Amino acid sequence: MRKILLYIVFGEDKGYYNGAKFSLLTFMNWMSNEDSFEIVILTENPGEFKSYPVTVFSISPQQRNEWSLNGKYGFRIKNRGMAYVMDRLELTEKDKILFLDTDTYFHKSPLILFDLIQPNQALFYLNEGLIYKRKRFQVYIDHLEGRSIQIDSSLYELSKKSAMWGSLMVGIMPNMRPSLDWADKLMQVFIEIVPAHTIEPFSLAESLLRKYKMTEGKKYVSLYSTSRKKKHAIPIISEFLNKCQKLPLDKQISLAQKVVIKRSAFKVIKQRILHLNKVIMSKRPIPILMYHSIEAMPKSTVMRSLHVPPKRFGMQMWLLNILGYKGLSMRELTPYLEGEKTGKVVGITFDDGYQNNLINAAPTLKKYNFSATCYLVSQRIGASNTWDFNKGITQRPLMTQSEIKEWLNLGLDIGAHTQTHPLLEELSEQQSHEEIFNCKAELEQMFKVSIKDFCYPFGRFNEPLVNMIKDAGYRTATTMSRGRATPQSNKLTLPRMPITHHTLPHLFLAKILTKYEDNR
Ligand SMILES: [Zn+2]
Repeated sequence: MRKILLYIVFGEDKGYYNGAKFSLLTFMNWMSNEDSFEIVILTENPGEFKSYPVTVFSISPQQRNEWSLNGKYGFRIKNRGMAYVMDRLELTEKDKILFLDTDTYFHKSPLILFDLIQPNQALFYLNEGLIYKRKRFQVYIDHLEGRSIQIDSSLYELSKKSAMWGSLMVGIMPNMRPSLDWADKLMQVFIEIVPAHTIEPFSLAESLLRKYKMTEGKKYVSLYSTSRKKKHAIPIISEFLNKCQKLPLDKQISLAQKVVIKRSAFKVIKQRILHLNKVIMSKRPIPILMYHSIEAMPKSTVMRSLHVPPKRFGMQMWLLNILGYKGLSMRELTPYLEGEKTGKVVGITFDDGYQNNLINAAPTLKKYNFSATCYLVSQRIGASNTWDFNKGITQRPLMTQSEIKEWLNLGLDIGAHTQTHPLLEELSEQQSHEEIFNCKAELEQMFKVSIKDFCYPFGRFNEPLVNMIKDAGYRTATTMSRGRATPQSNKLTLPRMPITHHTLPHLFLAKILTKYEDNR
């Protein structure tokens, strides 16, 4: 009787090749001379294994294509590879084959695994549970329940006993060889109807269970299959092989037993915390404040809400500062919106470019070392909010060219708010194009800074406008949709929170710190 260990290794990732080497070295430590062990590698790179006492079969590019259905389902290579090797090996009926994934290793005796493989019993890594019992397998119920699938001369139907078995280890005997083909035909039907990547182990288990018992070998193997374990293990194994690959085989085998792959408790906790932190931070809301005029205005003012008294503005910046938030321009906020940076940040924006922004807001912003973006109307510079005139809204002076230069010299930023502040939705495509493209060009020409941030006049936008903004080369665009932005938000339709005359401190805090704005 031969005891055959099989690894299938393909692709460019060096980690898989090193994994197979490490796995077979740790297995060899436990092999006895009486047993006739044979290690077989089916691989795209036979050269990788030439210094080991193994039988190598190579996978040709054609085979890889055929087995993976032209790259459509790579896991099928396992099934077809196992069948191919079994056919090539000239097996006798008592031989046993143990397939192993490359991320396995053996720091205690695995020999019992071969005893568990019997003519009436296949071996898998683990029974993951009944399809009908576990929620994560619902996809199989959704797509297979009530269906009959004809494979050769027999029918397949999902049953109450259908279970998922982990196939990182598969032990079978030659009498089970037809089950591989049957499973493969089943898998090819599943590929069309079940959107799950686990159809390879599922089809094989369903196929074998029709005729044989199945048992699990989890206890006898160690592995590093999760991404965090891999991240830890792969460099350790690579370092071990770099150091030891040239040593005599028996030396390599004994040293491989001493390699510590398991992460320390601290390492596990650290990896988990850092991962959690990343997840939390990536969902963390990023408030973008929308201001217009910063000025104390008399009660009679039409649309007084657009004017935030300087004292109130000062209080708001003070609150942000004591809470540990940093106020940023849209340019500085972009890496946070793209998920590259994380931190306690708030975007600060001023629409229209009022002179009082420079007089009343800039000193406060500088006091806390904050930045902000002022959105300018390129052909109304030095004029006033003429677009509001017909609605009777109080006119306020807009910054002149030299005042804007002053604003920039303070380290504050500017963005585009069109040439004339029209309702873009009502313009022809050509007119919108001019407003959006020319505003950028005019501001860049006037102030010698790249203009990357846009703000829709009156907050109004539609899909063609968003596409135009993108084509013009803007990286962000803000709206008047309410809510807090997150790294998941579309950068060209960013929501903001209006800060008005009426935004008293408690309301300001609710907007920043709670879901207050998100549901409005
Ligand atoms: Zn505006």
